[in-house]
Amino acid sequence: MNRILNDKGGTVLAFGAHPDDIEIGAGGLLARLSAEGADVNMAVVSMPNNVETRRAEARAGAEKIGAELMILFEDKPCRVEDVPMYELVRRFDQLIGDLHPDLVITHSANDLHWDHGLVHKATVSALRRTPCDLLAFLSSPEMNAHARCVGECFADISTTIDVKIDAIRCHQSQIAKMDIESSRDLARAMGRISGYDYAEAYQVLRVRV
Ligand SMILES: [Zn+2]
Repeated sequence: MNRILNDKGGTVLAFGAHPDDIEIGAGGLLARLSAEGADVNMAVVSMPNNVETRRAEARAGAEKIGAELMILFEDKPCRVEDVPMYELVRRFDQLIGDLHPDLVITHSANDLHWDHGLVHKATVSALRRTPCDLLAFLSSPEMNAHARCVGECFADISTTIDVKIDAIRCHQSQIAKMDIESSRDLARAMGRISGYDYAEAYQVLRVRV
């Protein structure tokens, strides 16, 4: 699947539980789709701590990617699990109703992180009446080694691997917890599997051909 969206560009909506999840899981593909003319939107659900810093980092990351950033619950630090599921789905519903996305990208159901799994559930629930393509990412496949597979679909991110790494690097407060070079190594490994220089792996939940 070389082109995910049509020639008109299309609208893409990516959900991430926390700032930096989307950059790590899908930053390369989103940057590519944005460069190809798509209207790319990044919806970050919550900020667990350092609200001001992490908001600024999320803005910088989205800017690198060429995406519009929305932070859904930004008033105070919270975890996704602090938000009732009905409220989460209601906000996702609202966003999907406003944007009419052609492609939605979200966390995988196989992700070990509880908050990531909740965002996956809310996304699938909010898309119950919306026909669009749906891909899922494992934000840290190396941390989710038990997952049945890393993905069934590989996005060529050879032209945007540097943008992806730059966008991840925007999350300075998280640098100590991250191994940024492993993101490049992983993209290279996924590229070896799929025949690209660099790639991101996705699980295909719904694709219209
Ligand atoms: Zn996260």
